[in-house]
Amino acid sequence: MKFGAIEAGGTKFVCAVGDEIGNIIEKTVFPTTTPEETFSKVYEFFYNKEIDSLGIGSFGPIDIDPHSKKYGFITSTPKPGWSQVDFVGTMRQKLNVPVGFDTDVNAAALGEVQWGAAKGLDSCLYMTVGTGIGVGAIVDGKTLKGFTHPEMGHILVRKNEADKFQGVCPYHGDCLEGVASGPAIEARWGKKGQELANDPEVWELEADYLAQALMAYTLILSPHRIVVGGGVMKQTQLFPLIRKKVAEKLNGYVQHPNILENIEEWIVPPGLGDEAGVKGALALAAKSVRGEL
Ligand code: ADP
Ligand code: ZN
Repeated sequence: MKFGAIEAGGTKFVCAVGDEIGNIIEKTVFPTTTPEETFSKVYEFFYNKEIDSLGIGSFGPIDIDPHSKKYGFITSTPKPGWSQVDFVGTMRQKLNVPVGFDTDVNAAALGEVQWGAAKGLDSCLYMTVGTGIGVGAIVDGKTLKGFTHPEMGHILVRKNEADKFQGVCPYHGDCLEGVASGPAIEARWGKKGQELANDPEVWELEADYLAQALMAYTLILSPHRIVVGGGVMKQTQLFPLIRKKVAEKLNGYVQHPNILENIEEWIVPPGLGDEAGVKGALALAAKSVRGEL
């Protein structure tokens, strides 16, 4: 079988054709402009490719409730032109194949359990730290959903006393995304993260906020693996700092080898690198054909 995959981001779309074992046969990337223009590039790419189904990992917020009238829509995004856009309906109509639809980060988590750093595990958390902070999860082999998709990037964290920064989240100010996303780093320190590589203070504070969040997710979901990606995590010195701080904050309360002995194998970078999202969308396509979503 051949599957289509779309990683739909606010700045770029990645479209690919691949197989059931996660190989990508062909791929294209283009900027996200208007829905009309962007979708027409999508059809152009998939035209005549004879895909059996399509998987979409999308930026949000999106409606993922199969009983909702707005299922498959991008809902209330501030991105101009993209609010209330029927993504799944349009794709079904144009490409005439079953469509699997989930958030970009749930798709990435699925990609990682199928073919990446969490291969073969029943649960996994995937966090991206970039322009925003997004978190997806696999629980019992399925992507985690409720009445809508979870928004774990917006949890509250305890402010470091020395950190007077107010935060950049337009909804919550100093939620996790507000204090630890790429734009938060830039606003607090006056330079982009990539220019602050040699400033240990920046990464100590960053690791503290990310570790608080990972502690909360661990206490709530107990994921078999935690995968952390996104542009900010290109600062790989964050990994040992985060691992140390998660262990310190849990303070022996969760007695498990993941934390006490093998934390280097438990909190890890994406096994699929920058392809976690698009390969996850491929996995969604395969699941939609098998009726497993
Ligand atoms: P997006 O979230 O838009 O998909 P990214 O994951 O690349 O894209 O995140 C972009 C953010 O990550 C920007 O705020 C940028 O400053 C930051 N970033 C990108 N590369 C690095 C780096 N090498 N070190 C630190 N921060 C980085
Ligand atoms: Zn927020």
